[in-house]
Amino acid sequence: MQRTLGIIKPDAFAAGHAGPILARITAEGFRIVGLKKLTLSAEQAGAFYHVHRGKGFFDDLTGFMSSGPCVVMALEATEAISGWRRLMGATNPADAAPGSLRQEFGTSLGRNAVHGSDADDTAAFEIGFFFSGLELL
Ligand code: UDP
Ligand code: MG
Repeated sequence: MQRTLGIIKPDAFAAGHAGPILARITAEGFRIVGLKKLTLSAEQAGAFYHVHRGKGFFDDLTGFMSSGPCVVMALEATEAISGWRRLMGATNPADAAPGSLRQEFGTSLGRNAVHGSDADDTAAFEIGFFFSGLELL
């Protein structure tokens, strides 16, 4: 079993898509190990997305991610990291496969509904960013 960090981003949460996305996650066979709703500060969003600091979209990304509530999730499955990224779809909703969450709920590259870790080391960092060990038992 493997774990990954997923986020229902502020655009999807505000549009009322958290319920359908959670239902889809369960239907696709992920176990929801950790779950919380929170609103990040811009500084916290910047710490989470530290690998993107200095890029042209960083301020827009951190501003957006701190613009309202989101739902953070620790998800468990076999091959959870690649499986969750496949369920999310491509970063740009315009390129996301039919049936993927970004195709269904994303509206632009910067407003793409969901986040997912991209590798073992980033999944470990991102899960630890939001959850303590006790919250993942
Ligand atoms: N992003 C953006 N403009 C870009 C690239 C990325 O606004 O040119 C945003 C987009 O919302 C993306 C996030 O920054 O989800 C993180 O980018 P990354 O390349 O890590 O994509 P992801 O892993 O989310 O698919
Ligand atoms: Mg990424």
